[in-house]
Amino acid sequence: NQPLHELDPEVAAAVDAELVRQQSTLEMIASENFAPVAVMEAQGSVLTNKYAEGYPGRRYYGGCEHVDVAEQIAIDRVKELFGAEYANVQPHSGASANQAALFALAQPGDTILGLDLAHGGHLTHGMKINFSGKQFNVVAYHVDDAGLVDMAEVERLAKEHRPKVIIAGWSAYPRQLDFAEFRRIADEVEAYLWVDMAHFAGLVAAGLHPNPVEYADVVTSTTHKTLGGPRGGIILARKDFAKKLNSSVFPGFQGGPLEHVIAAKAVSFKVAASEDFKERQRRTVDGARILAERLTAADAREAGVNVLSGGTDVHLILVDLRESELDGRQAEDRLHEVGITVNRNAVPNDPRPPMVTSGLRIGTPALATRGFTAEDFAEVADVIAAALKPSYDAEALKARVKALADKHPLYPGL
Ligand code: PLP
Repeated sequence: NQPLHELDPEVAAAVDAELVRQQSTLEMIASENFAPVAVMEAQGSVLTNKYAEGYPGRRYYGGCEHVDVAEQIAIDRVKELFGAEYANVQPHSGASANQAALFALAQPGDTILGLDLAHGGHLTHGMKINFSGKQFNVVAYHVDDAGLVDMAEVERLAKEHRPKVIIAGWSAYPRQLDFAEFRRIADEVEAYLWVDMAHFAGLVAAGLHPNPVEYADVVTSTTHKTLGGPRGGIILARKDFAKKLNSSVFPGFQGGPLEHVIAAKAVSFKVAASEDFKERQRRTVDGARILAERLTAADAREAGVNVLSGGTDVHLILVDLRESELDGRQAEDRLHEVGITVNRNAVPNDPRPPMVTSGLRIGTPALATRGFTAEDFAEVADVIAAALKPSYDAEALKARVKALADKHPLYPGL
């Protein structure tokens, strides 16, 4: 029972260095967040030792009486949080949740209709070499010239291809989807509607985004993005899908559930039901709006910086660099140099390859969790705008980033 630093100094050093990186830089990858210490405590607990194949009260292993309690709390809390009739909290990740959901709704060879990866969709929504693209007949819809999902195209493709499942959800899209319209189209062609709210689940929990549970047959999510919990997935649905979804997760795709992660999910659902969480999500959305405003100002535009769709309704913005001297990779590197972490991201019809791209995805959840206010986000936006100009003073910008990081200490005492 030696502590990590004694038993394995090499791994301990990597963990320590990662903590320092998180504390000293500004994390603006839209899919990342900082889990509360209590969540990490549950995730690092003895529950990691327990096998519990099955579901609470119906396990294939003895000794499950305590993990049953934790898992049932997670289920009850997440159902309450999103107003769902059914919840499965066992998927190991967002991709696992999506795999289980898709195979519960459709058979290999069936047609599915999802947002094109290059237009903001996710790998699991039909990318060619993902399970979804390999095993299903994929038809993709797109965003229009204004950067908005083209609902007329969704309807046209749905009528033409009669998909078994229509997927509404995204990894890189700065606006809210029209779930009612997706539902209408799905009903018209007798398709299932699956919403993947992995990115915006935290906003839904806070009441700042329409709740897809009211429209969809099945809703999947991650628990670690805006929701701010441990890395993992969940599936929500109407009661009549319960049996199919449960057996698709286990034994369909998974064996023993990660009960330590499930306990951590339960803690994060408690947090997500709090007033503090709502206030944090409000700062998240306000921060993204402030970024969009500052990066559409005249001086940013002069440097060839544009914001796709002209703004945002959510926790991220998409920066279009097609008119800039910088490509996506150079811009990502430049922000990294001054201490801001973002990821490059393809813009629709991107002329550059996926490893380079012509855009950036910039998100605010992690900084909002750190306590950033509107004023702080304005300063961050100005630092980003300055760093993306043809000439920039790296040392001065690093100092401004350091001042912001110092103002909002992360994990003090860890
Ligand atoms: N769904 C969407 C919309 C996502 O953006 C992501 C992750 O980026 C996932 C699913 C997959 O989640 P995970 O990385 O936990 O497998």
